[in-house]
Amino acid sequence: MTFDFIIRNVQVVDGTGTQRKVDDIGIKGDAIAAVGDLSAAEAARVIDAEGQVAAPGFIDMHNHFDQTVLLYPAAQSAVAQGITTAVTGQCGFSHAPLNNHYLACFWEWDWWDRVQSRKYYQEVVGDLDKVRAAAKEVQDLDIDWSTFDEWLRRVEQARPGVNLVPLVGHGTVRAAVMGLDYRRVATEDEIRAMKRYVEQAMEEGAWGISNGMDYAPNAFCSKEESYEVIGAAVKKGGFFSSHWRRTGLREGFGNPGLIEGLKEAIDIARKTGARLEIAHLSPGWLIAPSPTPRLSQVAAEETLAVLDEALKSGVDLAFDVIPNHLTGGVIHARHVAAALTPWLKEAGSMEQLAKNLAAPDLRDEIRQYIGSGKWYSLNPILQPGWASTIVVGNTSVDEFRGKSIMEIARSTGRHPLDALMDVIQQDPHATRAEPKEGSDEVKRIFYKHPRAMVGIDTFLADETAGSRTPPYYLPNPNTFGGMARFIKLYALGLLGLEEGIRRLTGLPAERLGLKDRGVIAEGKKADLVIFRPEAVLDKTTTEEPRQYPDGFTWVFVNGKPAVEDGRLTLSRAGSVLRKS
Ligand SMILES: [Zn+2]
Repeated sequence: MTFDFIIRNVQVVDGTGTQRKVDDIGIKGDAIAAVGDLSAAEAARVIDAEGQVAAPGFIDMHNHFDQTVLLYPAAQSAVAQGITTAVTGQCGFSHAPLNNHYLACFWEWDWWDRVQSRKYYQEVVGDLDKVRAAAKEVQDLDIDWSTFDEWLRRVEQARPGVNLVPLVGHGTVRAAVMGLDYRRVATEDEIRAMKRYVEQAMEEGAWGISNGMDYAPNAFCSKEESYEVIGAAVKKGGFFSSHWRRTGLREGFGNPGLIEGLKEAIDIARKTGARLEIAHLSPGWLIAPSPTPRLSQVAAEETLAVLDEALKSGVDLAFDVIPNHLTGGVIHARHVAAALTPWLKEAGSMEQLAKNLAAPDLRDEIRQYIGSGKWYSLNPILQPGWASTIVVGNTSVDEFRGKSIMEIARSTGRHPLDALMDVIQQDPHATRAEPKEGSDEVKRIFYKHPRAMVGIDTFLADETAGSRTPPYYLPNPNTFGGMARFIKLYALGLLGLEEGIRRLTGLPAERLGLKDRGVIAEGKKADLVIFRPEAVLDKTTTEEPRQYPDGFTWVFVNGKPAVEDGRLTLSRAGSVLRKS
């Protein structure tokens, strides 16, 4: 047989966790055609990969790639770090089905004010006609689908660079049925209508369902509604990914559910018989104001004890963890001024905000609003350590550089909120540096658990991505560097490469029921990553997160190179994996 590619003398880490073995891999079409001694075989292209590792393409268990796949179809940020398959439609947000309303997922930043203008918190449900007009005008994007099938066909036409496993979002379905009148328990008729949407999405190829219990409109659902709506997907063989109640609704001080939220997700899985994926696991207890490393460790262990108990009682669950929690989330605020987003938006520019902060009554107003607990990111109860985590990076003011807001407050004798406003007032362009505090011990404990996998929880992006309006959000560092970080810190540094790779490949494929991916073997799809483990490096910084990682030399998606000799090819060989 003549192959399209032969990868010679490569250390095959096959995704099952077994010890690596030097072999040759032959690719023909979109499949792995042979693994073994292919020294006598011929190929259109031969890659000598001596000293390098071949792994199955990475399967990212949790992200929001579907939200921006039409804007960045080549999926540069994903394939550059070895991701070839992504489980999308997470946290209750999917792009379909649509009725008369649209549920925003935070990438619409530059035009959402045209749909729903708010000073403090976005109203995330908007009129579909307004959304269509704004998306077309600002981003030249046609939101021309309604059903799940139409949406998936739209993605297929865009020829995505990665394989997408699509989930339907409970939040999206709730918006389709209840529109803007969602701040209440749904009626029986409404629940029936939601179930019909979910059943139809499942018939059209959804792989399962997600929920997002910290977000409107999902957060308002009753237990009964969860059982019914999630159950409708499970009855059709669907997988269930849960963004459990952690902070409560973020618009104002909600209910910090934490461990109760985790138990709620487990309860839904138990009641519906779902195969559960707990999204972006974090400790089920908040220890404030400054937990010792030992206290954080105990909170992590206790959280796992709750999961282990559920496992023992027969709930089929697993979970994913974000590699870089210090800067988790889909978007990233590069400037210190972004900490005061509502007032920055109102000012229109960072320079104008700095001028406005000279007014003592504006400062009073900001202090009062934040002190009331209504502003999520500086919430004194939910985020008591905020002043230590904001560290000033590049600035024209020497005495601020490299210091946290807490340190500046202590040295100047000012309240932390005033110290923050002083920094912005004196240098509106001051950037944020890497926080000094924070240990990765919690993540090490989570990743050690045999059911732990990885989800980078970001959008797709390229090196130009970012919002054009204040606060000038950038993609979260995990967007470009999450998998490199996982390999270095938690595969090589904790689990061993073979087991670490299994968590990115064989285990996710098994959990999802993806029979033709996740391991290197004859007949499987040719999703492959060739890399030098010791050279893998996450190069993102908080000041410039749009940096591709080092160490990955070749990435194949369905037999086509998406990365070739360390360079992006922009080939778009991914597919939508519809559940049949
Ligand atoms: Zn989430």
